[in-house]
Amino acid sequence: MADKPTLAFFSLACCEGCQLQVLACEEKLLPILEKADIVRFREASDGDADHYDVTFVEGSIVTAHDLERIKEIRAKTDTLVALGACATIAGVNAVKNFQDPDDVAAYVYGDKKEWFPHIAARPLKAEVPVDVEIHGCPINSDEFLEVVTCLLMGKPYRQPNYPVCVDCKLAGNVCLWNKGIPCLGVVTRAGCAPLMCPSAGHKCIGCRGLVDNPNTQAAKDVMAEFGLTVDDVLREFRLFQGIYDEVAKEA
Ligand code: SF4
Ligand code: SF4
Ligand code: SF4
Repeated sequence: MADKPTLAFFSLACCEGCQLQVLACEEKLLPILEKADIVRFREASDGDADHYDVTFVEGSIVTAHDLERIKEIRAKTDTLVALGACATIAGVNAVKNFQDPDDVAAYVYGDKKEWFPHIAARPLKAEVPVDVEIHGCPINSDEFLEVVTCLLMGKPYRQPNYPVCVDCKLAGNVCLWNKGIPCLGVVTRAGCAPLMCPSAGHKCIGCRGLVDNPNTQAAKDVMAEFGLTVDDVLREFRLFQGIYDEVAKEA
């Protein structure tokens, strides 16, 4: 990497909430700006460059144009970081994958639907090699800072690879299943603590995607204990389709 590496940020189909989380780092970004140049960041400036040492891309691929863009970005980038659930697991964009594509286009664009051709929503790694993933909807600002620090220091970033339940238990929460509320923390990758949803009384809906090798049997045992099947539970969790597909195919 150059003495002062170049960083770039791009958005595909998304709400740009993950880039806002980057801006929300505020003064914690200053030490990074001393060590690296942000050459592309539409939310904050209008510059650009021919090559990027590290590129952060939020959003899913939902059009042929997105597909062209991610390939161009990849070709100009040394290290590609997928930023947030849309980029890592296709996120909320993948909800449309469960419906007829024509119906979806007509619902959004009405009689102009032909003007906006689209393809099934997919994460970046479905089309180009991704070097690092930062999960969550939105991302956690502290995790972003940790990833950038590791990259600038040439160290690998080791993302949490255990389920949300571990942090939930450490926080002393009473399991929501005991209150009759299905929660996906048992198979979802941790890393959102201390802001994890169950600490605020909300079920985990899987925004960080599946932990590697999820213990789906344990998840099914918990569901069975409460008289539910995998399908009953996962119907509720289609907001983050990656979770649904991965767990359902093992059901
Ligand atoms: S992951 Fe969530 S917050 Fe981030 S861009 Fe996608 S929808 Fe927005
Ligand atoms: S299932 Fe949800 S509420 Fe229960 S321990 Fe796991 S994360 Fe916490
Ligand atoms: S608890 Fe689940 S849904 Fe909530 S932030 Fe963490 S991973 Fe996302």
